[in-house]
Amino acid sequence: MPDSYDAIVLGLGAMGAAATYQLARRGAKVLGLDRYAPPHAMGSTHGDTRITRIACGEGPEYSAFAQRSHEIWRALEAESGRELLTQNGMLVLAGPGERAPSHGVAQFLQATVDAARLAGLDYQILDSATLRQRHPAFNVADGDSAYHDRVSGFVRPERCIEVQLDRAKALGAALHLDERVVSFAQTGSSVDVATDRATYRAGELIVAAGAWLPDFLKPALAATFTVTRQVLHWFRAWDAAAHAAFAPERCPVYIWQVPRPQVIYGFPAIGDLEEGVKIATEQELVATTPDSVDRTVSAAEASEMYETYVAPFFPGLSPTCVRSKVCLYTGVARARFIIDRHPEFDRIAIASTCSGHGFKHSAAIGEILAEMVTAGRQPDPRFTFAAR
Ligand SMILES: Cc1cc2nc3c(=O)[nH]c(=O)nc-3n(C[C@H](O)[C@H](O)[C@H](O)COP(=O)(O)OP(=O)(O)OC[C@H]3O[C@@H](n4cnc5c(N)ncnc54)[C@H](O)[C@@H]3O)c2cc1C
Repeated sequence: MPDSYDAIVLGLGAMGAAATYQLARRGAKVLGLDRYAPPHAMGSTHGDTRITRIACGEGPEYSAFAQRSHEIWRALEAESGRELLTQNGMLVLAGPGERAPSHGVAQFLQATVDAARLAGLDYQILDSATLRQRHPAFNVADGDSAYHDRVSGFVRPERCIEVQLDRAKALGAALHLDERVVSFAQTGSSVDVATDRATYRAGELIVAAGAWLPDFLKPALAATFTVTRQVLHWFRAWDAAAHAAFAPERCPVYIWQVPRPQVIYGFPAIGDLEEGVKIATEQELVATTPDSVDRTVSAAEASEMYETYVAPFFPGLSPTCVRSKVCLYTGVARARFIIDRHPEFDRIAIASTCSGHGFKHSAAIGEILAEMVTAGRQPDPRFTFAAR
C-alpha cells in the first residue's frame, strides 16, 4: 500500500506553499511535493519583491484576495518575526496619447480608480507637478497623472514561501523536496501520485505546478495557459544621493503606462547602492516552456532595457545593470485566474499561476484551496475553466 494522506500538494511555490500551510493549520495530514527546493529561481516566484495592491485594475473581483492575503501575512509576521509585507504605497501612472495596456487593460489607471472606489479605499490623483515634488525619482512629463494609495506596497516572495513551509512543517506536514511528480490518477475516491521516487495516495490532490501545469493536462485544457519569459533587472543609481530618491518612503511601487510598446513596473530600493533598484517590463507575445526557456540575460538585452525603458523615466539610474533574472508568467486570456476542480476529476483541484499578478493573492488562494479540500468549498464561478 502506498503512503496515504488526506491531501497532497503538487508544487510548493507561492500557491502550493500557501495551500500546504493552510491544510496543516486545519489538521489535515498533508504531503507537499516539489521537483526543486522552494524558494528557488526556476519558476515564477523569485526576485526579492512582488507588488501588492488592493485596487486591482484587472478587476474589482481580485481585491478580496489581496485584502485577505495582507491579513494572513501580518499574522505570519507576528508568528515568525520576519518582515513579509511593506505598505509603502503605489502609483499607477499614465499620460495622454495611446499607451500599452497593462494585463490587457488599456485604461489601467481609470480601472484602478474604479476598483479603489468599490473597495472603499482612500486614494489621491496626483498631477505631474505634485508627482515631481513628492516622488523625485520619477521623470514624469507634463500631462502625466497618477493614482496613489498608501495600502499598497510589496511582499517578499521567497520569505513568504519559507515562512509558510516552515509553519506547515511545524504543524506536521510532510515536505518532500527535489522529488518530481511524474503522473497522477484518480481512481474512485482517492488519487495516486507517482514521483521519481515513490507512489503516494491521497483523498485529494491540489495541483499548483506553476508554469509546468500544462504538462499535466490534456492538450485542449493545457491550451488555456501560455507561458512567457519575463526579465527582471536591477540598475545601480549614479550615486548615493540618486539612490536616496528610491528609498521606500519616497518611491512607492509603481505601474507606469509609459509611451513605449510595453508597460514598466518597479520597486523602491530595498538594499544599498550596489544592490541596485529593480525595474521590469512585461512581454506576453513570445511563448516558451519552463524546460526550454533561455534563462540567461545578455548584456545587449540589459542595455536595450536601459535605453528604452529606464533612462528616459528614471534619470537617477545609471546603465550599470547589477543583476538580471528570468522568471515565467503563465497567462490565461484577459489575465484571468483559474482556481477550480479538474473538469474530469472531482478530487483534484487546480490553482493556476495567475497571469503575472498572482503573488499578492497567493496566501488567500492557499486558504481557498484548503477549504475546497477540507470543507467542500465550491469554486468561485468567476475563476473556473468554464469562465475562461
Ligand atoms: C517577473 C514576474 C513578476 C511578477 N510580479 C508580480 C507582482 O508584482 N505582483 C504579483 O502579485 N504577482 C506577480 N507575479 C506573479 C506571481 O509571482 C505568480 O502569480 C506566482 O508567484 C505564481 O506562483 P505559483 O505557485 O503558481 O508558481 P511557482 O512559484 O513557480 O510554483 C510552482 C512549483 O511547482 C513545482 N513543480 C512543477 N512541476 C513539478 C513536478 N512535476 N513535480 C513537483 N513539483 C513541480 C515547481 O518546482 C515550483 O516550485 C510576477 C511573476 C513574474 C514571473
